[in-house]
Amino acid sequence: MKSFEFADPRTETEALELMGDNPEQTAIFAGGTDLIALMQADVIRPDRVVDIRNIESMQQVYEADGGVMVGALVTLDDVLENPLLADYASLVQAADAVHAIQIQSSGTIAGDLCHLPNCWYYRSGYGLLAQENGKSLPELGDGRYHAVFGNSGPAKYVTATRFAPAMIAWGAQVRIIGPGPEDEEVLPLEHFYKTPRTERQGTTVLKPGQLVSHVWLPRIAGAVSGNYDVLQTAGLDWPLASAAATLELSGGRVSDACIVLGFVAPTPWVSQEAASALLGQPVTEETAQLAGEAAVSRATPLKDNGYKVQLAKTAVKRAILRSAGLLEGGL
Ligand SMILES: Cc1cc2nc3c(=O)[nH]c(=O)nc-3n(C[C@H](O)[C@H](O)[C@H](O)COP(=O)(O)OP(=O)(O)OC[C@H]3O[C@@H](n4cnc5c(N)ncnc54)[C@H](O)[C@@H]3O)c2cc1C
Repeated sequence: MKSFEFADPRTETEALELMGDNPEQTAIFAGGTDLIALMQADVIRPDRVVDIRNIESMQQVYEADGGVMVGALVTLDDVLENPLLADYASLVQAADAVHAIQIQSSGTIAGDLCHLPNCWYYRSGYGLLAQENGKSLPELGDGRYHAVFGNSGPAKYVTATRFAPAMIAWGAQVRIIGPGPEDEEVLPLEHFYKTPRTERQGTTVLKPGQLVSHVWLPRIAGAVSGNYDVLQTAGLDWPLASAAATLELSGGRVSDACIVLGFVAPTPWVSQEAASALLGQPVTEETAQLAGEAAVSRATPLKDNGYKVQLAKTAVKRAILRSAGLLEGGL
């Protein structure tokens, strides 16, 4: 691993100052569970690592503006245990599905939201677009875990965030600070993600010198939610596809719905088709199935990953049923 400076700020302002000296060559360390692996593999070679773990303002969960503010450093364990988050069932289910107590105790919410792709070409040094001599390796080579939506451009990887689908389905907003000490913006989490068309563009809107400080979740009276991950193994594993649903019900019928898929596109994938299919319907096995079919109606699989379309359909169906407490046996 390349040698680097290590900085240990105590406040958001100090962190931004330390990042501001040479923002392009600075990396943020939260739980470190993924960053260290990327540095060991020489995929990321920062001159300075800014460890944000001791910034108290980013460690809390508290009520704010009719919702709940979640600090960037809140761990997966905190999500599982904090009573303020207990009503966000889809989020708790997503944290519970990470089957490793070490990761649950050190992995953070923002580390998950900013997690770089698990694409094996990216992790082997071929860049985000995974190209060689102008040709897409996931298309020519092995793309079995790659995108089945949003893959018409050069990016074929799938987003690696596990919590964004649940948070987006709840209408989450993300607070970004930097690069200057006074700079701050709040935007819908859905708009935080982008699909790069060149190697210089990133996976999110974050610019060098910026970081995620908080995520805000609205409280929606009476809303129910569920998350479903399709996993290959029962142990620590990344989903092959996932879905999160937040539903509002009125008179036994769906009056509002947001369905978001994960691990199927370079960004979390909001399915208007699935939401439209559910509106005005009661939640039943049949309507959930139809919503799942609607969700994948415009999938564009690569040569190796057609199986993911079926998995995505099933994830949507089960997330909807789980929201309404209709998924037999929990899983
Ligand atoms: C061997 C191994 C296997 C794993 N397998 C799985 C798995 O199967 N399923 C699963 O769900 N999880 C898995 N994880 C865990 C996953 O890495 C963490 O759950 C989490 O996604 C990362 O959190 P972190 O705080 O450790 O992030 P870090 O590693 O500290 O950071 C991750 C990325 O986010 C950036 N970042 C961190 N915080 C911020 C911020 N506030 N603002 C801007 N950028 C930020 C970092 O610079 C880095 O690029 C695994 C981890 C390891 C080590």
